[in-house]
Amino acid sequence: MLVLDGRDNRLKFLGLDGILTATCCPHCVGFLQGPAFNRFTLNGGVEVFPSKLYDGGEKMQCYVRPEDYEALTKNSFVLGKTTVPLFYGSACEDINTVGGFANWVQDWEYTACPHCGKAMKYLAQIQWNTVYDGAEGTLYIEFCPDCYIVSMQHQQT
Ligand SMILES: [Zn+2]
Ligand SMILES: [Zn+2]
Repeated sequence: MLVLDGRDNRLKFLGLDGILTATCCPHCVGFLQGPAFNRFTLNGGVEVFPSKLYDGGEKMQCYVRPEDYEALTKNSFVLGKTTVPLFYGSACEDINTVGGFANWVQDWEYTACPHCGKAMKYLAQIQWNTVYDGAEGTLYIEFCPDCYIVSMQHQQT
């Protein structure tokens, strides 16, 4: 969903001397018990953690085809050239933001790191209709700067 290079001057506030990768299935992430998690390495590596479905099931039909993934990876987001105010993202329903505060669709839900248990740092929000035509809701991404773990959760009305 997101690849950020902490060495970019605009992303220095992340405190990462390398690349953060947040990866999940854009279809299945909306049907999980809790957030999807992955671990990243600063050289661009990523390890996806297994997750459970909301109904306890093992598997579900995934409607994302390989060609859809390919189309998604070619449709990159572009990081703005200048910074925006801290609460800019919390007032936006149609803009993807990195840093600052989120515009939670439901109640705020900060995630505890599955490794160290500390509250994760809010990282970004991705409006779901900027990923898929006609999709609803928002993906919220957090990360643990100590464990290099990312969480992704989807909310919609
Ligand atoms: Zn899927
Ligand atoms: Zn942690």
